[in-house]
Amino acid sequence: KTFEELGVAAPILKAIQEMGYESPMPVQEEVIPFLLGEDNDVIALAQTGTGKTAAFGLPILQKINVSEYQPQALILCPTRELCLQIAGDLNDYSKYIDNLKVLPVYGGSSIESQIKALKRGVHIIVATPGRLLDLMNRKTVDLGTVRSVIMDEADEMLNMGFTDSINAILAEVPASRNMLLFSATMPQGIASITKKYMHNPKEIVI
Ligand code: AMP
Repeated sequence: KTFEELGVAAPILKAIQEMGYESPMPVQEEVIPFLLGEDNDVIALAQTGTGKTAAFGLPILQKINVSEYQPQALILCPTRELCLQIAGDLNDYSKYIDNLKVLPVYGGSSIESQIKALKRGVHIIVATPGRLLDLMNRKTVDLGTVRSVIMDEADEMLNMGFTDSINAILAEVPASRNMLLFSATMPQGIASITKKYMHNPKEIVI
């Protein structure tokens, strides 16, 4: 199948074609039409390098209402490097969608500039859990408008001790949101997160 047959819209198609993406990778073929079709939950056992960023990124971008300057999607990831990588990829994919704002939020950098960017308005937040929680505690970010949550490298986030932060963050997101979880391994901690926060998730193994 082509990206177009999976339901990817014209402005995004144009951007990924320019990036040299010719045909969808397996995780993309599974996840993209599913997320464009319904707002259900997904657990994907997938390693890095399998194309998972575009698998969740393209449908998330396509479903953003650009005229509403509120956080509509939240992507949680373990490290600053991954945070910047995901935000960069989303910016590349949304090159032809006007005014779409993606904000990377991570520790070890100025919190003031992240607060300013949040005040100007963003559609998608890509965050490491510790810094996002810090911003929430300062009342500088409101997750009450988030419709989708993505947990990338979920096993790594648990290994790094982010379980409590993740629970505190997810408590502030509306229960009506859908959730996608990507992980290279499925330890017990992941099972308890999925049990607590997901409803009848579709399970994908790549
Ligand atoms: P990821 O697993 O998301 O880190 O992606 C791994 C690499 O594959 C990245 O360099 C992507 O830019 C690239 N990539 C993702 N999807 C495709 C595709 N459909 N065709 C070609 N390259 C891709």
